Amino acid sequence: PFVIASPCIGEKAAECVETCPVDCIQEGDDMYYIDPDSCIDCGACEAVCPVEAIYSDEDVPEEEKEFIQKNAVFFK
Ligand code: SF4
Repeated sequence: PFVIASPCIGEKAAECVETCPVDCIQEGDDMYYIDPDSCIDCGACEAVCPVEAIYSDEDVPEEEKEFIQKNAVFFK
C-alpha cells in the first residue's frame, strides 16, 4: 500500500482524498491516513500530493518509516 508521512502534518492539502478511486484515505486530527487493507496501489494519490507526503511502502525513507505503522494503526 501507499503511506502518508510527516509532510502531511499540519498541511492536510487533501487533494489525495478526492483522487483515490477506492476512497481509502481518511482524515485524522493533524494529517490524513491511508487504509493499507483497502489501498489498491494505484499511485494516484502520490502524484497529486503538493507536499510529496505520500510514498509506496517500499519507498518510504528511513526517517519516515514509523508512518507505515501509523497509517495502519489509524484504521484498527
Ligand atoms: Fe488510494 Fe491509489 Fe493512493 Fe492507494 S495508491 S491510497 S488506492 S489513490
